Amino acid sequence: MPQRVNRPRLGQNFLVSATAQAAIVDALGDLSARTVVEIGPGRGALTGLLAARSKRLVAVELDRELAGRLRANFAERENVEILQEDVLETDLAKLRGGDERLIVVGNLPYYITSEILLQLFRYAGEIERAVVMMQREVAVRVAAQPGRRDYGVLSATAQLFAHVETLMTLPPGAFSPPPQVHSTVLRLTMAPRFPELGVEPEDFIVFVRACFAQKRKMLGKNLRNAGYAADAVMAALEASGVPVKARAEEVDLERMAVVWKRLWKNYEDVPQAHG
Ligand code: SAM
Repeated sequence: MPQRVNRPRLGQNFLVSATAQAAIVDALGDLSARTVVEIGPGRGALTGLLAARSKRLVAVELDRELAGRLRANFAERENVEILQEDVLETDLAKLRGGDERLIVVGNLPYYITSEILLQLFRYAGEIERAVVMMQREVAVRVAAQPGRRDYGVLSATAQLFAHVETLMTLPPGAFSPPPQVHSTVLRLTMAPRFPELGVEPEDFIVFVRACFAQKRKMLGKNLRNAGYAADAVMAALEASGVPVKARAEEVDLERMAVVWKRLWKNYEDVPQAHG
């Protein structure tokens, strides 16, 4: 049989550490009554364990050859479905069966980590939790707390949608072929904070992006650049206890929400900021 060539462009670094494979699946909790979605099953490092433990497993693999091989390997298992498609185009709502929300797992293709995370957050209402592996540097950003250098728009967005836990970090040698980076597994327990913060999801996310538009610049400057009037920005920062010279990375989501609510009242004055 000819040796199959890896497709590095598809982020194909396969997890060969059996300890890590078991730990990732264990981190999902009891799967016996659940539909599990696996992103990028590849050669099936996690797929066999997931198939044995879950009620239903839907594995989404873009690579035609790998998907074909998985279909053949799991042909006997009635609870396993292999979809050969781009996970960014998968309608996760359609995969949900019954009342229980989906469980998502994947050693992600690193070249589209942020896009996949954003997609998971778009479907946050359909997902209970996700255990996902990504490049360590990206995981550090997702999990960073306000006031830390790594806290940015990805951290704020992730933490608006989910409780983030860092589970483990793996060296390149846990994979074949070894990637050039360390990898970290995060567990995201979906718990959108919009109602508690009293903000409109779509508008607030646009606002958070504007706050971080130029990360090294002061929050007030970024908001003025986004079209908010200077005096309204000053008043909103003052009312929410945010120092005038603060950068967005220093401001937690609670205070950012207060700033947004203050500015939102001046909506009529700054239509371009919300257009
Ligand atoms: N889960 C396997 C493992 O741990 O060994 C493979 C992980 S590998 C890092 C990423 C996998 O995602 C590859 O199998 C790759 O073909 C697949 N992939 C890449 N882009 C994808 C996409 N847009 N949609 C679905 N799968 C994708």
